[in-house]
Amino acid sequence: MNDRPDTEGASALALSSAERYALKQARVLGRALHEPVAPLDADGFALVDILVDEGLIARIAPAGAVDFGGAPEIAMSGRIVLPLFVDVHTHIDKGHIWRRKPNPAGDFKSALAAVIEDRSANWTGADVAARMEFSLRSAYAHGTAALRTHIDSVGAQTRISWPVFAEARERWRGRIELQASPLFSIEFALDDSHMADIEAMLDAHGTGILGAVTYMIPRLHEGLERLFALAERKGWELDFHVDESADPAARSLKAVADMAIERRFPRPILAGHCCSLALQEDDERRKTIDAVARAGVSVVSLPMCNMFLQDREAGRTPRWRGVTAIHELKRAGVPVMIASDNTRDPFYPYGDLDMMETWREGVRILHLDYPFADWAPAVAAFPAQAMSLDLGVLRQGARADMILTRARDFTELLARPQSDRIVVRSGKASSAKPPDYSELDALFGLAP
Ligand SMILES: [Zn+2]
Repeated sequence: MNDRPDTEGASALALSSAERYALKQARVLGRALHEPVAPLDADGFALVDILVDEGLIARIAPAGAVDFGGAPEIAMSGRIVLPLFVDVHTHIDKGHIWRRKPNPAGDFKSALAAVIEDRSANWTGADVAARMEFSLRSAYAHGTAALRTHIDSVGAQTRISWPVFAEARERWRGRIELQASPLFSIEFALDDSHMADIEAMLDAHGTGILGAVTYMIPRLHEGLERLFALAERKGWELDFHVDESADPAARSLKAVADMAIERRFPRPILAGHCCSLALQEDDERRKTIDAVARAGVSVVSLPMCNMFLQDREAGRTPRWRGVTAIHELKRAGVPVMIASDNTRDPFYPYGDLDMMETWREGVRILHLDYPFADWAPAVAAFPAQAMSLDLGVLRQGARADMILTRARDFTELLARPQSDRIVVRSGKASSAKPPDYSELDALFGLAP
C-alpha cells in the first residue's frame, strides 16, 4: 500500500459503508467553485477539503480551514478532483457498427453512404437499443453525468429509434441525464410528411430539441425558416450539424446565426462542427463569428472525428486538423466546448465516449492549453450550460459526484489516459467498467 497511499485509500473507503468522510487537500478548479477560494496555484487550482455526507458534497472549504468533527479523512495530498463530464454531442444510435460496416476509405462521403446502407439493413429497435446501452455503459464507466445524442431521423428509422431512445432515457435516469436531437439533412425540412413525423416523435419521446444538418443547398434559408418556426411554436431548442466541410464556401453557420438574430430566437442554439469557418478569409470569418456571438449561438467542436475525416485523401498527408476556429470564437464571447461525436462507426473508427480522452486529444489538436484552466470547463461546465443542466462543477449541496485522479497539475493529468481514475457517484466509488466488446458479437452474427 505504501507506494499508492492516497487515492487507493479513497477507493477502499468510499466502497465501504462510510456515509461521511473528508477528502483532505484536494486540488479543484478554482474558478469553477461557486464560492471562490484563494489563492489559486499557477494552473488555477485551489487546495480544498471536501466533506462528503450521505451522498452529498456537504462542504467545500479551503484546506485546513474547517474541522469536520472527526469524519474519516482521505489524504488527497494535492491530487486533482474533477466534476463528472458532460458530453454534449454524440451519436449513440450509430455507435459500434464498424465491425459489420467499416469505412476503409475513411472519408466523409463514404461514411455517409456506409451508414445509410447499414441503417436500412440492420437498425431494428433491438439493434439500436443494444448499441445505445453499450455506449451508455462506457460513458458511465468513464465518468459522464450527462449526454446529448443525435438520432438519425429519416424515413422509417424515425419511428424506430425515438421510442428506443426514450426507453434508454428512463432506464438511465439518475445516472446519465440524456437529451436528444433529430438528425436529417436540411432539405428534409422542406418535406411536410417528414416534418410531421419528426414533430410526432419529438412530442412523444423527445427532449425539446430540434435539429438538422445544415449545408449550402439552394433552399437553405427556407429550410431553416421551417425549423425555426417549428421550434418557436413548440418552445424547443435547436442543435445543428453545421458546415462539416473543408470548403470555405460552406457558410451555413452565418445563415443560422443571421436567422436567430432576425427572429430573436429566445432559446439555446448549439452549432456542431463548423469546420469550414477555420478556412475562410479573415474578414468573412470575423463577420460570421460576430453574428454567432450576437445570436447567442454556442459552438461545439468535435476534434477527434474532425481530424479523422477532414483533409483525408488516400496517399496524401493531411495539411489541416479539420477543426473550427475555436480560439477566435471564444475570444468573441461565444460559449465553446468539445465533445465525443462518433464512436466505432464509419464516421470514426475509434473513441469510447470517454471525455477524458476527448479532453486529452482536444488539448493536443486544438491547443486547449496555456492557460489550461481556461479550457477545462469545455468538457464539463460549458456543455452543462449548453444543456441547461446544473452539472459540470463541484458544488456544496450537490450530489457527491466527482472524479478522483492521482495527477497534481495539468501535465500530469493530460500526459496519461487516467485509466486509474476513481469515479465517485453519490459519494461512493463506482465499480462500473466499460462493457466487453464481445457483448456485441450477436449483432454481427458472430458466435459467442
Ligand atoms: Zn455529429
